[in-house]
Amino acid sequence: MTISPELIQQVVRETVREVISRQDSGTDAPSGTDGIFTDMNSAVDAADVAWRQYMDCSLRDRNRFIQAIRDVASEPDNLEYMATATVEETGMGNVPHKILKNRYAALYTPGTEDIITEAWSGDDGLTTVEFSPFGVIGAITPTTNPTETVINNTIGMLAAGNAVVFSPHPRAKKITLWLVRKINRALAAAGAPANLVVTVEEPSIDNTNAMMSHEKVRMLVATGGPGIVKAVLSSGKKAIGAGAGNPPAVVDDTADIAKAARDIVDGASFDNNLPCTAEKEVLAVDSIADLLKFEMLKHGCFELKDRAVMDKLAALVTKGQHANAAYVGKPAAQLASEVGLSAPKDTRLLICEVPFDHPFVQVELMMPILPIVRMPDVDTAIDKAVEVEHGNRHTAVMHSSNVNALTKMGKLIQTTIFVKNGPSYNGIGIDGEGFPTFTIAGPTGEGLTSARCFARKRRCVLKSGLNIR
Ligand code: NAD
Repeated sequence: MTISPELIQQVVRETVREVISRQDSGTDAPSGTDGIFTDMNSAVDAADVAWRQYMDCSLRDRNRFIQAIRDVASEPDNLEYMATATVEETGMGNVPHKILKNRYAALYTPGTEDIITEAWSGDDGLTTVEFSPFGVIGAITPTTNPTETVINNTIGMLAAGNAVVFSPHPRAKKITLWLVRKINRALAAAGAPANLVVTVEEPSIDNTNAMMSHEKVRMLVATGGPGIVKAVLSSGKKAIGAGAGNPPAVVDDTADIAKAARDIVDGASFDNNLPCTAEKEVLAVDSIADLLKFEMLKHGCFELKDRAVMDKLAALVTKGQHANAAYVGKPAAQLASEVGLSAPKDTRLLICEVPFDHPFVQVELMMPILPIVRMPDVDTAIDKAVEVEHGNRHTAVMHSSNVNALTKMGKLIQTTIFVKNGPSYNGIGIDGEGFPTFTIAGPTGEGLTSARCFARKRRCVLKSGLNIR
C-alpha cells in the first residue's frame, strides 16, 4: 500500500501539534479559566470563539479530543470521585450505580461515527448531505444525573462539531464545575481550542435564562422536568426537550415471574430509582401478583403493609403532583425510618400494594418506593399503564411471553423506550443492545440523543462529474 506524502505530512503535523500542546499545558495543568466564567455572557462569547476555532480542526482532531474526554471521565479515581461527590452534594443516589452510569457515558457515548454522510451520485453529479454543527449549544442538566449528562452531552455535541455552554442545576454546582474543569484540562492537553465546554461559577435560573436568550446560542437542549422543557420549547430557538417520565412495568400471567421480579428490582433500585427511565410502578395481573411479590422479596425488597403508614410516607415524600426533593434518591432504609419502620440497611426497594389512584403510583417519585397495583387482566393492565404514563411518551416496561400483548402495549403506550423482559436500564444501553444516552428526547422526538441530533443537515451539490458508476 502506498501512503500519500500529504497524509504523512498531515499525521506529522497533528502529532507535533499534540506533543507541543501536551508540553505546553501538562495533562492536568489549568487552561486559563478552565471553562468556568463569572457571567453567562462571557461564557457564551468564549464558547463562540472556541467554536469558530474548532471549525478549523479536522475530524481526526475531533476524535482525539473526544478520546481525551473519554479517558479523563473514565479514569477510575475520577469515576469514584464523581460518584461520591455527587451523592454528597445532591444527597441523591448511590455510589456504585453512579460509577457505572458515568463509565458507560464516558466509554460508549457515540462519537463522530454517528454523523454519517448520505450521498446521491448520478448523471447530474454528486450530492451529499452532511451533519454540520449548530455552533454554540446551551445544555441544561438535571440534579439526578448531573455528571453522566455532562459527559454524554459533551461527547455528542463536540462530535457533531459544536461548542457547549452548560447550565447545571444549582444543587449539583460543585461537581459539575469540577467536571467541566477536568474536561477543559484534558482538552487543552489534547490541543483543543480553549473553551469548547464552558459554564458559570454560579448556576441559577437567571443564568439559564440569560443563556437561553443569548443570540450566539443556536440550539438548546434541556434534560429535566416539565418546567425547563417548556421553557426551551418557548424560546424561539431550535430545542431538544428531554422531559419527565413515570415508567410503568406491566407483568402478565405468561411472564417468567421469577425473572420479572429480579429485573424489576434491579431496574427500580438502580441509583435509588433516580433515572427517568426506572420502573416507577408495577401493574401486575392478579393471578400472578402474589408470586411476583414473593419473588421480589427474595431480592432485597421490604414490604410496607399498613395502609396508614403508606399514606403517611406518601404525604411526606410528595408535594401535590410532584416528588418532595428532600426525599428524591434517598436510600430505601432511610425512607422507611421516616415513618418509624426499621428496614435492613441494605434494603434495595420498599414495595407495597396500593390502589391505582395512590400518589405512589401517580407521582414520578424518583426514590426507591415501588407500588404494585393488581389488575384483573393484561388488557386492563395495558390501558392503566397508558393512563399512568401521563402522556409523557417516555419509558415503559413489560414482562410477558405473549407476543400479541407485547405488541399491543408497544402500540398503545407510544413511549420512546419500551423494554420487554428486562430491567429498564437495558433501554438506555446499559447491559442492553444500543448506545447509551442520558438525554432521552420524547417531547421533541429525537429519542435517545447522540451526535447526529446535535447537528444540522446540509446539502452540498456538485453538478456533473464525480459519478463513477
Ligand atoms: P428540574 O426540572 O428541577 O431541573 C432540571 C434543570 O433545569 C436544572 O438545571 C434546573 O436548574 C433547570 N430549571 C428547572 N426549571 C427551570 C426554569 N423554570 N428556568 C430555568 N431553569 C430551570 O429537574 P431535576 O430534578 O434536576 O431532574 C429530574 C427531572 O428530570 C425528572 O422529571 C426526570 O424525569 C427528568 N429527567 C429527564 C431525562 C430525560 O432524558 N428525559 C433525564 C434525566 C432527568
